[in-house]
Amino acid sequence: MVWAGEIGDGYKMLFEVYEKIYESKNLQKIEIFRTKFGKMLLIDGCIQLIEKFEKTYHEMLVHVPMFTHSNPRKVLIIGGGDGCTLREVLKHNPEKVVMVEIDKEVIEACKKYLKLDNGSFENEKVEIIIKDGISYVENCKEKFDVLIVDGTDPNPTSMSLFSREFFLSCSNITDIFCMQSQSPAFQEKLIKTIVKNTSFFKNRAFYISCIPMYPFGIWSFLIASNKLEVRPNYNELRTKFANKRIETEHYTPELHVSAFNLPKWIAKLLT
Ligand code: SAM
Repeated sequence: MVWAGEIGDGYKMLFEVYEKIYESKNLQKIEIFRTKFGKMLLIDGCIQLIEKFEKTYHEMLVHVPMFTHSNPRKVLIIGGGDGCTLREVLKHNPEKVVMVEIDKEVIEACKKYLKLDNGSFENEKVEIIIKDGISYVENCKEKFDVLIVDGTDPNPTSMSLFSREFFLSCSNITDIFCMQSQSPAFQEKLIKTIVKNTSFFKNRAFYISCIPMYPFGIWSFLIASNKLEVRPNYNELRTKFANKRIETEHYTPELHVSAFNLPKWIAKLLT
């Protein structure tokens, strides 16, 4: 048997792999495997997604901010090279989506071998920019309704996606900011950095989701805004969800609301 997955500080999460479908090592090490749970994407030895479970992550990363905004027409995605965040954003029928991904090989490999984007990369509303997300937002003159950061775990490529300068630049160009804010179970130090570096936002809230494909199965997200309320309003969410008729497998307005009710130990970490 051959095993692959993520080995971290004091833990490992491995899956039996039937076949290695793709591997390259340039800017980052990209690997795609076939497992019992569908295809698995690793970048620099960290699990990015597993086909069977990826919606638990992408639907919560996308539909929470998209349903929080009253009318998200222009959306910016930083990272997200596998195309799944883009796929979910397009379900809201926005006018324009800009996706800024630093590593074009992630997009090329995922388009060809992962095939979870549902043709999103080819959608005429989508503009793909191959660039470092940090320098893009620093120099960006355009405004967006929603900005979503779907970055990798901190590595030399993604580390500055957690800096105060990056968050400040993001806050200048968007109404709603949302990011995956890592694991409350084993990345406490990094989460504290995120809490500190985003403290300038007027409105800010963390939410969690059960994500079976990531180590320890629980993941946190941050939603923030200097203009809009980010905490959920159930009646509004129910109406928007019914009106938009978006197909989901994981997200519901009920789950959206409950995701903000944090267990005590996580709430303590996030304040
Ligand atoms: N959901 C995943 C996770 O947390 O494990 C992230 C998935 S997505 C594949 C992450 C993407 O962020 C990668 O394709 C990576 O190349 C991209 N990325 C990392 N640093 C970046 C940066 N500074 N600017 C733009 N994209 C970046």
